[in-house]
Amino acid sequence: MKVTVLGAGESGVGAALLAKKLGHDVFVSDAGTIKNNFSRELTDKGIPNEESKHTWTNICDSDIVVKSPGIPDAAPLILQLIAQGIPVISEIEFACRYTSAPIIGITGSNGKTTTARLTYHLFKSAGLNVGLGGNIGISFARNITENKYDYQVLELSSFQLDGIVSFRPKVAILLNITPDHLDRYDYKMENYVRSKFRITMNQQEDDLLILNADDVEISRFTKLQKFSKPESPRLIKVSNHFENTHRLVIPPLLGGGQEGAFDMKQCVLKGQHNFFNAACAILAAKSFDIEDEVIQEGLNTFVNDPHRLEFVATINGVDYINDSKATNIDSVFYALQAMEKPVVWIAGGLDKGNDYQLLMPLVEEKLKALICLGEDNEKLLENFSPILKIIEETKSAKEAVERATVYAEDGDVILLSPACASFDLFENYMDRGEQFKAAIRGLGKA
Ligand code: ADP
Repeated sequence: MKVTVLGAGESGVGAALLAKKLGHDVFVSDAGTIKNNFSRELTDKGIPNEESKHTWTNICDSDIVVKSPGIPDAAPLILQLIAQGIPVISEIEFACRYTSAPIIGITGSNGKTTTARLTYHLFKSAGLNVGLGGNIGISFARNITENKYDYQVLELSSFQLDGIVSFRPKVAILLNITPDHLDRYDYKMENYVRSKFRITMNQQEDDLLILNADDVEISRFTKLQKFSKPESPRLIKVSNHFENTHRLVIPPLLGGGQEGAFDMKQCVLKGQHNFFNAACAILAAKSFDIEDEVIQEGLNTFVNDPHRLEFVATINGVDYINDSKATNIDSVFYALQAMEKPVVWIAGGLDKGNDYQLLMPLVEEKLKALICLGEDNEKLLENFSPILKIIEETKSAKEAVERATVYAEDGDVILLSPACASFDLFENYMDRGEQFKAAIRGLGKA
């Protein structure tokens, strides 16, 4: 069988390695340049590849094409392949055909990484042989090629779900759906919602679907679909309103079990959104019979990825928090909601069509000052000048931290939660977060 892989990033190279291991005739084609490490890997394994072009004659005789998530379905090459009757699938679909490990698939607009990491950590804490991959770190296909896990936790983007055919997670978690990536969905929210729900499309009655009970788009879609077919997955709806800030009460698993309660004092995950993420991860763990004591131990020892409500330091009584990964309004909403002290907010960057009105009640309740950190801060100024006395513009993380520090007093918090992409002033959100942390370390050293 000839397998052509389009795109030579982590998922494309993973798919190529798996296809090679399976003994297929593999070809990799990337319209851009292939990163050195990936190029070397393909060459080492004797996998023919091309870069900076897609040569039709090299591709048109494929039996199957594995498309990387970055390539839109509407790309002319993809349309041409489909017109020729050549199946085009995602790397997730390709990989799932070669493993029988139960899959815990996690998708949503926000919270995927946090929930996937925590779920993985809970399985690990139980001593289980579990892999973590997908839209995070190592691709699913590479995981299948290089390891033999008994369980697979997968973070899944909507683009990865678009190319599935038979992918069937034993447990699916759909965290939330807020507008994102609409350019890939004809600017229609319903298309994006449908894409997210594809995670459930092959689930059967002995599978589990964990949904956000309070998400408007999810509720609307589930009402339409009813999820009442005999083969529908078992459904647990989790509310994202949690009264207590230290005790996490989660609903019972269907078909038995009791409400569970967990102590969150020692857990690094703070705020309602993170309690919700944790509740979903815990339910997934419990569905595989992981004991409450093991889960509690896992919550106590969990370390999240940086740049997600990451506590950096307390200096002169002021807490500094790095939430550079918050690149949309929804994530900032939850970040501000999680703050228990007066906030000096650092925000801005490349706006993706933000509606700041959604933040107004929280801004009025919690904000002392806004420090804009972006090339063009017009929209922030326009929205918040009427309600905030202190707004300043800055053009570097260092300047932003220094100005924020001027306005923060003992007992306040300085929160970088930008609501915007970072590419105007930084390489990416990680660079922005690292520069923010470096600026905090540099305070007082000047
Ligand atoms: P993703 O992988 O979906 O981008 P992350 O876990 O990396 O999600 O978090 C991205 C941003 O969203 C962070 O700023 C984080 O604080 C925020 N966030 C995490 N979980 C949620 C949630 N359930 N709802 C809204 N925002 C969230």
